[in-house]
Amino acid sequence: MLIVMKFGGTSVGSAERIGQAADLAVKAAKEGHKVVVVTSAMSGVTNKLIAAAQDAVGGFYHKTVSDDLHEPHRQAIHLLAPNDAARRREAIESLRLRIERFETLCKGLTMVRELTQRTLDAISGLGEILCAPILSCAIAERGVASRPIEATELIVTDDQFGQAEPLMAETRQQTRDKLTPLLEQGEIPVITGFIAATKEGVQTTLGRGGSDYTAAIIGAALDADEVWIWTDVDGVMTANPGEVPEARTMREISYSEASELAYYGAKVLHHKTILPVYKQGIPVRILNSFNPENSGTCISVEGRPSERGVKAVTSIRHVSLITISGKGMQGIPGIAAKALGAVAAERANILMISQASSENNICFVVNSPEAARVLKALRSALELDLMLGHIEDISADDSIAVVAVVGDRMQGTPGIAGKVFDALGSSGVNVIAISQGSSERNISLIVAESEAAEAVRAIHRAFELDQPSQ
Ligand code: ADP
Ligand code: ASP
Ligand code: MG
Repeated sequence: MLIVMKFGGTSVGSAERIGQAADLAVKAAKEGHKVVVVTSAMSGVTNKLIAAAQDAVGGFYHKTVSDDLHEPHRQAIHLLAPNDAARRREAIESLRLRIERFETLCKGLTMVRELTQRTLDAISGLGEILCAPILSCAIAERGVASRPIEATELIVTDDQFGQAEPLMAETRQQTRDKLTPLLEQGEIPVITGFIAATKEGVQTTLGRGGSDYTAAIIGAALDADEVWIWTDVDGVMTANPGEVPEARTMREISYSEASELAYYGAKVLHHKTILPVYKQGIPVRILNSFNPENSGTCISVEGRPSERGVKAVTSIRHVSLITISGKGMQGIPGIAAKALGAVAAERANILMISQASSENNICFVVNSPEAARVLKALRSALELDLMLGHIEDISADDSIAVVAVVGDRMQGTPGIAGKVFDALGSSGVNVIAISQGSSERNISLIVAESEAAEAVRAIHRAFELDQPSQ
């Protein structure tokens, strides 16, 4: 089998963890599989890089920032490559040069005092670039040939810095040209997650948590047999285990269930991960690098639907409810179209839409960092309707959260919405708005952010999601 394995931040969070990741990759190779590894940055590193860039643009940069980045990587190199002095020296030298370049960039920011998304991508992707050679060293120390490869050589994207989209034809070509000969020779390439490059070679990133997406893109490009995502929990669970302690790992879920969950906040999977793999039907496994014996979750076409209809419940925070309201909206065609067009032109993502049947208001949810921009665009696009009084107000409320109830079998299972409302009602949670996807695989609700955790727990209890269903 050809397996693309991705290791998340905590799975490469220390020398010991990188050693364990190397063991897992080497084990699969020794079992006869072709293995491609994708790595995240060591945990916490991406946050530190972003904070350093933001501080620098505010005028603050101190050498302790780079020392702080340097040290864990240096230590890991020493611990993981004890036998190969030449390789160790090379890794230490490359680490030094990369951190020097990072320092230069930060010092530049303290002078120009401007941080574009493009520059932020050049800085925030450094964690993966520092980690890949170390994991590759650790694999080589265990007796399997390996080399680090920067994904800027493989994945071609558009120029939406911060959330770039892959151009699959070019990516497929480059990835196959570069990786196939290595795989034929039994090497394990270790690829940097999260980063990519435009056609012109400028570094982009795929969005926070994007290494999962990298693994899926590489898996699709290589027609891999499986994509394995190694993380720090036993798989995709019926709810966020931090919010619902009794949440249970689901053994099998479908691509559509995984997409819905990831889209509505299940951090375990980057929300675009399923896109590249589902057309080719490549199964994705979510596995625990801290508990590798556990079989984890398999994401596939069928996904073993649950008798209960509902399989999982999730929530998404840091979102804002945009409301366009006015009694004069009734009967005036095109307001919704104008509004949605304006949001699309801003490239802001709409998480859910709801319109009261009275047509007195339209509301939709966007990510909070985009809310101010969206409001401005709406006020400008609907200026005339505001002036004529068709619309009285356009407002944003960022004290809300979206809770999503997900399951393929919800389609055709009666009474689910009723049960959700009963559960929320008896827990005293007020539902601000509701929307049901036409696929009927998802019901999403807007609640006050302060009530979101209770809403998730109440729904989890009502559907007895802590009990095995199959
Ligand atoms: P990695 O660094 O491996 O990419 P992440 O921190 O991005 O890992 O994602 C794993 C985390 O996602 C888990 O530790 C868990 O706290 C959180 N999480 C949120 N919702 C879910 C869910 N439904 N199932 C599993 N984990 C979830
Ligand atoms: N290191 C990146 C982040 O923290 C990408 C990832 O971990 O998937 O967002
Ligand atoms: Mg992640």
